[in-house]
Formats: sequence, C-alpha cells, structure tokens
Amino acid sequence: MGSAKPFQNIVGKEFWSNEVTQLMHDNHGVVNICQEAIDRHLTGPLRHAVAIRYIDPSWPKNPQSIQEMTYQELATESYKMANALKSLGVKKGDVLFTLSPRIPELYIAAMGALRMGVVFSPLFSAFGPEPILARMKKGKGKILFSSASLFRKKVLPILGSLPFLEHILLIDDDGSLEDIKKAINFRDLIRTADPSPILEPTSPDDVALLHFTSGTTGEPKGAVHVHQAVVYHKISGRFALDLRPQDVFWCTADPGWVTGTSYGIISPLCNGATLLIDGAEFNPARWYEILKTFKVDVWYTAPTAMRMLMRAGDDLAKSYNFSHVRFVASVGEPLNPEVIEWAQENLHLSLHDNWWQTETGGIIICNDSGLDLRPGSMGRPVPGLEVALIKAHQGGKITFATEPGEQGEIAIRKNWPSMFKGYLDNPERYAKSFVGDWYLSGDVAKRDNDGYFWFVGRQDDVIKTSGHLIGPFEVESILMEHPAVLESAVIGIPDPVAGEMIKAFVVLKKGFASTQEQKLNILSHARIHLGVAIAPREIQFIDNLPKTRSGKIMRRLLKARELGLPEGDLSTLESNYGAP
Ligand code: ATP
Ligand code: MG
Repeated sequence: MGSAKPFQNIVGKEFWSNEVTQLMHDNHGVVNICQEAIDRHLTGPLRHAVAIRYIDPSWPKNPQSIQEMTYQELATESYKMANALKSLGVKKGDVLFTLSPRIPELYIAAMGALRMGVVFSPLFSAFGPEPILARMKKGKGKILFSSASLFRKKVLPILGSLPFLEHILLIDDDGSLEDIKKAINFRDLIRTADPSPILEPTSPDDVALLHFTSGTTGEPKGAVHVHQAVVYHKISGRFALDLRPQDVFWCTADPGWVTGTSYGIISPLCNGATLLIDGAEFNPARWYEILKTFKVDVWYTAPTAMRMLMRAGDDLAKSYNFSHVRFVASVGEPLNPEVIEWAQENLHLSLHDNWWQTETGGIIICNDSGLDLRPGSMGRPVPGLEVALIKAHQGGKITFATEPGEQGEIAIRKNWPSMFKGYLDNPERYAKSFVGDWYLSGDVAKRDNDGYFWFVGRQDDVIKTSGHLIGPFEVESILMEHPAVLESAVIGIPDPVAGEMIKAFVVLKKGFASTQEQKLNILSHARIHLGVAIAPREIQFIDNLPKTRSGKIMRRLLKARELGLPEGDLSTLESNYGAP
C-alpha cells in the first residue's frame, strides 16, 4: 500500500459491524429484513400506523383509488404469503422473481418472500422477453410473481427456456391461463393461506436480494445481497434521507431497480414511515398533485425525473406550494447544479444529491440534512464508512489521491453490511472489484478541502484530451446552463492531435430552433465557461438521449454509433430511443 493515508471519515470504525452484532444479540442470532421492516413495529405504537398508501392509476377521478395497509395488516399479509410459499414446498434460498406493476401485492410478495428466507429479485415491468429470460435464467428463478397480462406478453414466449421455474403466481388471472400448469391465482392463494406468524430464522449472511445493475456500461450484472444489509438500509435512510417514523415517503424509483427496493421498500419500513406508491407512469402534473395532496414529507427521486419536470415548464411548477416537503434527495446520475437551481427557484425545494450503486446496496456519499449544500457535489460519506479515492494500483500497491482536487476512483473499505457478496456466475469479475481492503466502484471523483466529493465520471466515460482528463459531468453541466439546452451528453472521439476531442449531443428545450446559429451560440458559451481545451469541438442536436430504463445516459451507445463500433448489450435501453 502507498504511504499516503486515505481520507478519514470515520465515526468509530467498528460502527457498522457493531450494529450487526447488536442486532444479532437482540434477535438471538436471527437477522431478517422482513423482521426489521415489519415485525419490529408490531409491539409498539406504529402497529396501527399506515405502512403502505397506494395510489391507483385511476386517481384522482376514481374515489376508490386509494388503498391503505397498516403495519399490522402488512404483517398478516406477509405471513400469508410466507405460509403459502411454504405450502408450495418453497425453501430458504430459492429465488422469487417479480415482474409486476407497482401494486400493494408486489410489496406483500417481497416481504413474504424475505420472511421465508426466499431471495427476492425484482424485474422492471417494462422489460421485454429477452432481458427477462437472461435474468431469470442466471438467477435460476423458481417462483415468479406477475400479472396475467404481463405474463402473457412477456414470459409465455420464453417459458420453455425456464426449466427452474416451478410456480407462477398471477394477480388478475383472467382464466385464460388455465392451460398453464404452473399458474396459480395469487389472490386465491393468499385468501386461503394460513395467517399465523412465521419467520425463517435467517442469519446475517443468508442471501436475501438479487439485483441486476442498470447495464449502462455493458451487460447487466447480478449483484447478490444478504440479510444483514438491513442494518445499513435502516440507518443510512435515517441519516441520508432524514427518514422519521410516520413520515410520508415517496421514492419514485420502481422496485425493479435497487433504489426502489433498498429505499423504496426496506429502509422506509424499517424507519416506520408510510410508503407512498404511485401505480401510474410519470406525468408532471400528476407528480405535483401527489406531492401536494398526500403531503409528502420526504421525496427521493432522480435527475432524469427532475429534468422531465423542468421540461414541463416553470409555470406548472410554480403553481404549486410544496412547503410541507421537508427533504428531497436525488440519486442515479450526476445532479447538475442547473437542476438544483431550477428546483430552488420553481419548487422552492433543495435537492440533495447522493451517490451509490447496485453493488453498494445503500447510499455511500450524501448531502445529509445537516450539510450545507454545494451544488454539483455528491456530499460526504455516510458516517462509519471509509471512502477513499484511488489514483492507481498495481500488484497490491495502492496510490491514493490525497490532495484536494486530485482525481481518483471512488473506493470503499470493504465489509459494510450492504456490500454485495458476489456477481452471479462471475466470481472473477467480483474478485477484480477489490484491491486489498478496498472495493473499487469504477467511478471517478475529486474531493475538496472540506471533504465534499465531486463526481467526475465513470472510468469508461472519462475523456483524455490534450493531456487533460475530463469528466463528462463538468462539460454537460456547463452546457445545461445555456438557456436553450435541456439535456446533454458528451463523449470523446479519437483525434490524431488531441488524443480525443469532445463531442456533445444536445437536447434543446421546447421552442428553441436547432439551427447552425444555435450551435455556434452554445459552443461559444461552452468556450467562455470551460476554456478552449475542455469545451466541445462539435455539437449535434438530438431529440432524445439514449438512456437505460432506470434513467441513466448511455454514453457508450452514443460513442459506438458515432464510431461505428458494436453496440453491446442494449437490454436496458429505453424504448423511446430508436435506431439511428
Ligand atoms: P452497469 O454497472 O451495468 O454499467 P450502472 O452502473 O448504471 O450499470 P447502477 O448500479 O444502477 O448501474 O448505477 C450506479 C451508477 O450510477 C454509479 O456507479 C454511478 O456511475 C451512477 N450514479 C449513481 N448516483 C450518482 C450520483 N449521485 N452522481 C453521479 N453518478 C451517480
Ligand atoms: Mg455499475
């Protein structure tokens, strides 16, 4: 190891391992996510508090469109789910996949599975048959929870290739699936199931969750997580999202992605909050109405969603009063200062960026409620973690970036409770993610004098031009400050002189013309603010940026198309980005 010391951010190095030990002590060795999320509240004042408030897509027209479940009711439903699984012969360690709209039953299925020690692996409902097949095959899914309509469209065509699948639990079974032997009507199953309390005595290291990464940089990887992660979900939610008992909490990420599970289900339940679940697709006016009508206290969303709200216009945003919202956080992509300023001006809300990955299982760097915001910074590490920036490593010798402003790969000292325990079927890739005691994230950042982290870019996206290492985020943020620019993505293109030259793809705001003059105007804005060396040399207007279904810009696809290279895995590409 190098002699320089990594940055210290430690509130007791043993904090997280002590928390796990304490939980084991409290529960006589049993550590189970469902126990912490639900059972823990059943003897206290939260027993009759609302755990889930579901908003049906028919809201607000239909007065019956809101459904509520208390912690006690959620417990009972999850007992039934767990007992039903047991009666089907399902065992600890078997894998349950879900492919479902956001409905209360999805949350019951998840909790019931975890309660039984069954591994929960959520799929995003907009996936087509191929991505579903790839994931379910890799995960050896034994049970599937889905809706009849999604199943018919997406799973039926691949059913023959899923030899491990033994039970198919369907909501809204319309009777037309009678011929499918393994299909069971979920609601009938639950209605007749044993409601007696049940809990599989899982240990901290038993596998609990299987999450697939977004596929932004290549083929999605299956990250394995264990039950002790719950300790991290709970406390990091309290710290980084300011979650408190009985808060109305809205996480806009679908449970098909890690955010939608770690912080869309587990953390808020552990903290005694009310999960607000919207069954409908994104719609700016609806989102504003939900924030207002349901008096959201804490809102966890993503930069892409914020940019879509910006696209819907200032007037719409300004027509609401969100003074009841106490805390707003964002994750998934860099949060451009321009977006923070827009939200401040138009929604009167402060957006708190935080950074983490499927592999980390929980928030690692954040702007917590007590930290002064520095727009463009991801904030500081969660207490009890050691987060360093690694400049280089070779043969086990590590060189850390220790000076303010120095760039390095974000690395976390291993073995925090929600750290992933493997990549499915890929032990080599897993081993490569570590050097010495450190997990290597693949993302590059800098740190300022006060320990705030600033995102530079993914290692794969960093551009080397004329001897500089340029992160796309810095360039994109400046482009977004131009009044005509809604979104942008920059890539490096091989250049004989500079090594790489920067090309920017720009989506214009409504009402701005894609003329040559506009291009020159944006280029000159970039040169003034970034300098000639870092400013893009070329701009191309584009209607939409290629994004993953979890909302991340796929710069690798822009680059592949630009250079005529193979496009790689596109299983998570959002459908509104067409062929060239
Ligand atoms: P894959 O690993 O398959 O390429 P992915 O890395 O996009 O996909 P996720 O685990 O869903 O899959 O996303 C984590 C990544 O998202 C981080 O490594 C980082 O690049 C990006 N990210 C998340 N939060 C932030 C943030 N606040 N600022 C900048 N980037 C972020
Ligand atoms: Mg990744």
